Amino acid sequence: MSRRISEILELIKIVDSKFSDNTTLQKMTSVRIEATKDIAIQNNIAKETARDKYRRQLAPDIIGTEEFDDYLYAWFTERQNDLFEILVKHAVDKTDIEIIEEYFESKRETEYIEWPEGKELVKYKETFLLRIVRDTKLSRKIKNLYDYKCQVCDLALKLKNSIYAEGAHIRPLARPHNGPDIVENILCLCPNHHVLFDGGGFGINDDFSLLGIDGKLYVHNNHPIDIQYLKYHRNFHEL
Ligand SMILES: [Zn+2]
Repeated sequence: MSRRISEILELIKIVDSKFSDNTTLQKMTSVRIEATKDIAIQNNIAKETARDKYRRQLAPDIIGTEEFDDYLYAWFTERQNDLFEILVKHAVDKTDIEIIEEYFESKRETEYIEWPEGKELVKYKETFLLRIVRDTKLSRKIKNLYDYKCQVCDLALKLKNSIYAEGAHIRPLARPHNGPDIVENILCLCPNHHVLFDGGGFGINDDFSLLGIDGKLYVHNNHPIDIQYLKYHRNFHEL
């Protein structure tokens, strides 16, 4: 385990505990500066040393405290994954990855809401929350298997520095569905097809032909989709 990762996580947790809905970026920065001092004292190191852990040691992905704060703010307010991805990239061993995942996944789970909860359309703020996609270890595994290409349309979203796809649970994890987080229940989809699928815009037959839209789900040889979940999805949406 690296001191750098554990100290950065410690810092993130402190700032997180003081973050609320109306915290501005500026306010968060001052909290972060205070937290840096606290961590320096706790670990008996200079304040500059503590700050350097995220100011210089995350280069070239993050350069400077301002950029670090931007990523931190994007994580707190929009649950953007960049900070998580960057920390994972800088992990030196399995323990590092475990402690990073433990923190980020615990936060995601408490705020995760899956559509549809009943079948009514939801208010704007709620729809925003719905788009927080739970990115579990297994959904990353499935996305890697498909090189982040959508199993319906073959599209991978190329962002400036990364590539984006979503792990879609066929039988949703949330109540009342209580689907399992296993590869047999996960698809790799682009955001459009994920929304369509979750909202019953299309279904998937047992032979992987699509129901409601043209085409067929592409399935990799190493991806054992369990058709009972496809059936559950079709029944739930009355497809
Ligand atoms: Zn797609």
